[in-house]
Amino acid sequence: MNILVCIKQVPDTKIIKVNPKTNTLDRSSAPAILNPYDAHAVEEAVRLKKIHGGKVVVLSMGPPQAKEAIKKCVEIGADEGYLISDRRFAGADTLATSYALYKAIQKLMDEDGIDLVLCGKHAIDGDTGQVGPGIARRMEIPPLTNVIKVEEVDPAEKMIKVRRKIENGYEIIQSTLPCLLTVEKEINEVAYSPLPNMLRAARYNPIVWTVDDLKDVDMKQLGLKGSPTIVGKMWPPAKSDGAQMLDDEGDVKKQAEKIVSLVLEKRELFEAKGGER
Ligand SMILES: Cc1cc2nc3c(=O)[nH]c(=O)nc-3n(C[C@H](O)[C@H](O)[C@H](O)COP(=O)(O)OP(=O)(O)OC[C@H]3O[C@@H](n4cnc5c(N)ncnc54)[C@H](O)[C@@H]3O)c2cc1C
Repeated sequence: MNILVCIKQVPDTKIIKVNPKTNTLDRSSAPAILNPYDAHAVEEAVRLKKIHGGKVVVLSMGPPQAKEAIKKCVEIGADEGYLISDRRFAGADTLATSYALYKAIQKLMDEDGIDLVLCGKHAIDGDTGQVGPGIARRMEIPPLTNVIKVEEVDPAEKMIKVRRKIENGYEIIQSTLPCLLTVEKEINEVAYSPLPNMLRAARYNPIVWTVDDLKDVDMKQLGLKGSPTIVGKMWPPAKSDGAQMLDDEGDVKKQAEKIVSLVLEKRELFEAKGGER
């Protein structure tokens, strides 16, 4: 069973700062990491490979530094990693990103065949969750989003059953293979990498393709030219004010009483203003 995982290198959003003048992310303020959801997708692919055989290939679009994220996937257990990197991909929105990744996937399918495509639920920087379903639409395969468990796979019968998270609970759905899954963090725990994987990753050199390595590319659909969306405005959320420190050190009962009285006080104020904040 050949599994392809799309992975993205992202800035660590726990650390990244927003430039107060431009209101854009200051990417130099945070280290680049493998998108955490993608790490879970690779872990799941490796788990399925151990049961059903085949291989795990990862694919990323990004600058040359994104090789580091691919090497991290090799550490988790991926067999091969491809990076599509070219100035002509730059400035892509999600539509152009899914097109470029699809063109690389087509080439990989021609070479080896792909039974399953995995993506993260979303990238922690762009946060749209559109790239996975975008790829599935272009490949004309079913997208199964927000997957928290692979219940059953039968590669011979070309069948997969997964558990999805939905608004009020869960659902189990079955699909034909190939299909595309976007995965939640609950799907697995990313295990510590064994030493042989770490050694292989340290020496591993991902395969880099440019636009010229891909077949039948419509240049109008790439990069900035192929991106119809425009970011009109960006701003950080307003800082909440009125926060208070509770000073009754360690006395939980007193702290709880204080919180209740503060909430009641705020409600009275809110009602006195006729429900306006
Ligand atoms: C309106 C708009 C304009 C933008 N303009 C620019 C711009 O000018 N320049 C720029 O650099 N960026 C731009 N971006 C950001 C860029 O579109 C996204 O970084 C990219 O398309 C991925 O979208 P996302 O981060 O929301 O991924 P999501 O859809 O949230 O990611 C879901 C999953 O898709 C896969 N995935 C996503 N991106 C990649 C990738 N690159 N390689 C492999 N797998 C991937 C991963 O599995 C990931 O977990 C723009 C985004 C928007 C919405």
